[in-house]
Amino acid sequence: MKNKIFHPYTPFSVIEKGFPNMVRGEGIYLFDDRGNQYVDVVSSWWACALGHGHPKVVEAIKKQAGILQHSITGGLTHPGVLELADKLANLMPTPERHTVFASDGCSAVEAALKIAIQYWHNLGQPEKTWVIGMDQGYHGDSLGALGAGFVDGFHKPFDRVVAHHAKLPFPCPTENDPDGFEPSQMVIERHADKLAAVIVEPLCLGSAGMKIYSAGYLKKLADCCATNNVLLIVDEVAMGFGRTGKRFAFNHAGIDPDMVTVGKALTAGYMPMSACIVKDEIHNTFSDTPEDHTFYHGNTYAGHPIGCAAALAALDVYEAEDTVARAAEMAEKMKQWMQPMGELECVKELRFLGMIGVVELKPETKPLVAKIKASLFGQGYLFRPLGTMFYLMPPLVISDDDLRAAVYALQQTIEEFCE
Ligand code: PLP
Repeated sequence: MKNKIFHPYTPFSVIEKGFPNMVRGEGIYLFDDRGNQYVDVVSSWWACALGHGHPKVVEAIKKQAGILQHSITGGLTHPGVLELADKLANLMPTPERHTVFASDGCSAVEAALKIAIQYWHNLGQPEKTWVIGMDQGYHGDSLGALGAGFVDGFHKPFDRVVAHHAKLPFPCPTENDPDGFEPSQMVIERHADKLAAVIVEPLCLGSAGMKIYSAGYLKKLADCCATNNVLLIVDEVAMGFGRTGKRFAFNHAGIDPDMVTVGKALTAGYMPMSACIVKDEIHNTFSDTPEDHTFYHGNTYAGHPIGCAAALAALDVYEAEDTVARAAEMAEKMKQWMQPMGELECVKELRFLGMIGVVELKPETKPLVAKIKASLFGQGYLFRPLGTMFYLMPPLVISDDDLRAAVYALQQTIEEFCE
């Protein structure tokens, strides 16, 4: 069959060569139509925290599909969405929250951006319309999310269309400013009268190449936003539900963000579902009158019953299997096993945050990256390097042996091509 897919993030040259046709998933593996198996080292775009085919999530989806497959949340409700909204609120430091449901990470981010802007409108401060993010931050590919993000290569064709008002510099610690927060503080203070919100990826800028910054920075950012009447949106789409060794990455900083966006691992990657969890003091500024204080925003699949069933099942499994604590434990082992790679001549840096392990190679290895990736693929490992950076972000349920084997394969292959 001719491939008629307009593939995301896939160079045409790669499409021409053809690629595997994945027909099945089980545990940490994906299987192609030729029977080859591949370790899903990046959890299928960081979503499949529980791996593939988890019986409890699969069962919940099947059951819900036979009961109620869809019913809208505009003017109606259903048991699954009520329960999920309550559960999500109770996962927050302060549970006085309402949740907007959506389908992809970027649609949860769009909701957050619009709520931030309308919140200030509702309060009679319509001049506060800017939502700014961090240099190299990424929040999705819709136009609003692009405006708050700064991954240059992705954005170039849209530079004239999206609103890049200002940005927070990526934290650069110094002796006097150990969290590298002061330059960001200056940006916030300078623009506070126009700023509706700041949005950040907590502790790790994923798409920019797993760039990690301190929890101290995030704490200072939360305090500075509060002092300057700027909302803080923490985008947990990639980090949420245990990836960093805590339930949410913002828990490392002990903060209580105004809005939290989640997606990906919310359903452990089983259904397209995302959410924006909003403090009641923001939600309560919306009302029927005047009409422009109403929340006129929604998506067809907002609160989709099967998505809710998948999310509720995933949250139950995280709880029952103590996934977050296990991830924190595994993270220590992964770090230990990866350390020897830091000694290799071609390695620029290793970085770690929870179950994210990064090997950044020196820039001169760039021509070898595709070869290393292809070799690992031949060995049954689905790595997706970013620039010269290889990273492990496996399902949180990966076994010790499988994780150690993946680390070993990466090290051997880097050595083979680069040393
Ligand atoms: N926010 C963050 C932090 C992300 O990493 C991503 C995607 O990688 C998104 C938002 C967008 O999510 P989606 O691709 O589901 O729209």
